[in-house]
Amino acid sequence: MPKIYFLDVTNRDGVQTAKLGLSKIEKTLINIYLNEMGIFQSEFGFPTTRHEQLYLQANLELARMGVLKPIRLSGWIRAMVSDVELSLKMVPDIRHLNLSISTSAQMINGKFRGRKSKNDVINDMTEAVKAAKKLGCESIGVNAEDASRTEIDFLIKFGKAAQSSGADRFRYCDTLGYDNPFTIYESCKHLAKTIEMPIEIHCHGDLGMAVANSLAGAKGSLDGGQDVYINTTVNGIGERAGNADLVAVILACLKSKEFAEKYELGDKINLSKAYNLANFASYAFGVPIPINQPGVGANAFAHASGIHADGVLKDPQNYELYGFEELGRGEPELVETGREICSGQYGGISGFSHIMGKMKEQICFQSKEEANEVLELVRYANVESHKPLVEDELLFIAKYPKIAKKLLTLTPLEN
Ligand SMILES: [Zn+2]
Repeated sequence: MPKIYFLDVTNRDGVQTAKLGLSKIEKTLINIYLNEMGIFQSEFGFPTTRHEQLYLQANLELARMGVLKPIRLSGWIRAMVSDVELSLKMVPDIRHLNLSISTSAQMINGKFRGRKSKNDVINDMTEAVKAAKKLGCESIGVNAEDASRTEIDFLIKFGKAAQSSGADRFRYCDTLGYDNPFTIYESCKHLAKTIEMPIEIHCHGDLGMAVANSLAGAKGSLDGGQDVYINTTVNGIGERAGNADLVAVILACLKSKEFAEKYELGDKINLSKAYNLANFASYAFGVPIPINQPGVGANAFAHASGIHADGVLKDPQNYELYGFEELGRGEPELVETGREICSGQYGGISGFSHIMGKMKEQICFQSKEEANEVLELVRYANVESHKPLVEDELLFIAKYPKIAKKLLTLTPLEN
């Protein structure tokens, strides 16, 4: 029976959102949280982008060390042989790629403007897939950008060509959030049946349906007999109106009417990490979680009206679909209301020792030099993120100073 997997694209689609961004350490922490949560794959960045190079290498090093395991780390590039070759040159250990190219008439005419025909699109993609295979990639996803506005016959031709060149998955991109649950179900079911390859569902929220469309697309692929990989981002952060929210999509798969009885997840998801992950991403992006966000919003388990409060106190199931404990919330949060010592780019050893002494996990430095080295890395991390580091970031730097150094190294315009 085909299964559902989650492929989070926060570190790719999330960070390319206008006005938002993450530091390389923040991106790394997101990968660590996703791994702890049991997410199958993180599209962790752009292997042809110079400033991503050391970050991507460092994260693959963390995978080898077992810190980022078993999550699969994949890069996103254009479906071009030159991008494939450059990726493997810049990040030689990368083994998973998603290759993207536009497929709709709108994009082919409006973007390529006569430089590429439909046949060129298929040809560029198949050549890129073959190059990735030849260079040792273990899994290759092929992204049909603007799939929802592409004629289905061309999508089938494109998908079949991808499959016969050695691609492993077909990404159906509802790039503009144009689909609705009824149309995406039909398209994905038809594609799954005819292409005979696992389908990725990539939805956007321009019409407020990213989560519903993801679920419907997933159902289409599963009913068509193929595994499905739902693309998500943490807190739905993504271009324009955003992507499908990771936690909401997981909840929809597990808690919505009759879905979990019929369809199975491929991995065991540890939902108890959800609250922490959502809050970290909110802090890192500088975007508050909406009060009514499913599962993780401040009001997701709040009751005020007499009838609801009375009902939920008698039996939570009267007015709650799932328990707050499942999402890892309910623990009291310590917020400093008095004197506060923060990490910063101009911080010194005394304040740093004070902060490290208050951690949930005690870190013992072997020497003064070692403590000073970690402090220096913390200063640099602060230069990049412009805000005090959270405990997990400080612990990460203290535990893996060499990796942290790599994540903080940027060398523009070096030949
Ligand atoms: Zn997207």
